[in-house]
Amino acid sequence: MSRHLLQIEGMYPPAIAEMLDLAESYVLLNRSGKTQRDLLRGRTLINLFFEDSTRTRTSFELAGKRLGADVINMSVASSSVNKGETLLDTAATLNAMHCDLLVIRHGESGAPALLAQKVDASVINAGDGTHEHPTQALLDALTIRRRKGRLEGLTIAICGDVLHSRVARSNIHLLTTLGSRVRVVGPPTLIPTEAARLGVEVFHDMREGLQGADIVMMLRLQKERMTRGLVPSAREFFRFYGLDAEKLAYAKPDALVMHPGPMNRGVEIASAVADDPVRSLIREQVEMGVAVRMAVLDILARRNRPNV
Ligand code: ASP
Repeated sequence: MSRHLLQIEGMYPPAIAEMLDLAESYVLLNRSGKTQRDLLRGRTLINLFFEDSTRTRTSFELAGKRLGADVINMSVASSSVNKGETLLDTAATLNAMHCDLLVIRHGESGAPALLAQKVDASVINAGDGTHEHPTQALLDALTIRRRKGRLEGLTIAICGDVLHSRVARSNIHLLTTLGSRVRVVGPPTLIPTEAARLGVEVFHDMREGLQGADIVMMLRLQKERMTRGLVPSAREFFRFYGLDAEKLAYAKPDALVMHPGPMNRGVEIASAVADDPVRSLIREQVEMGVAVRMAVLDILARRNRPNV
């Protein structure tokens, strides 16, 4: 068992189930209001975010605090990274501070894995480039499992900018490992060439791709990662690939809608769908994010120091 959480790819079903099951108990605990635990008392968690984040960073902070850890948010803008310190120098510095859990988000795919080789802490990937975002996939799976009672056999359509999405990649690995039927839906320019190798079905038409889906997972159009014009305009994109009530009607009547945030309303999703209290799981995803991150911190802290 690894003391790090770097990616979903290669994880076995029991390891994923262990995290989801423990997260389930943290959902109940969080809802009960009795959240303060001392499981991680005396342990230090450092949040090291080289890219923007609202949900992920806040929920790791909350998760660490609820388990009793000392949580430090290292702001990259005010750190020596801006003075040219390399990632490995930063790692050596953090190591000397004896941090136990290191949560990192970085624009380069593979940065957390590199760091993991250099520090004694457990490293948790909070999103690296276009590679993976493992805790997002875990929280998505927990959200679906709680609502649908299972993951196996469900048809899940992941739609939009799949090419640049680490959320899509982690979800594809997790959902196919646990037996869901996964489709990716988007314009040919935004579907990675390796999609078929990942065991998913590829669609370029929303109506076909959504036909009979149990879950419709929308992705943000990641303009910041586009090096060339891959979509004509936001308006055109919405017309063909934006989720509105008319396109959602092709999915199952009880299909549920997800989005990892941040949302571009009117670009990949219509506000009426995003805010639909019956069909949209977007708020619930955020709630599950805290529980999943508590479970991940709990499990990794035990693995890194078994007598805790
Ligand atoms: N928040 C997610 C991520 O960091 C999704 C997104 O940014 O579109 O990958």
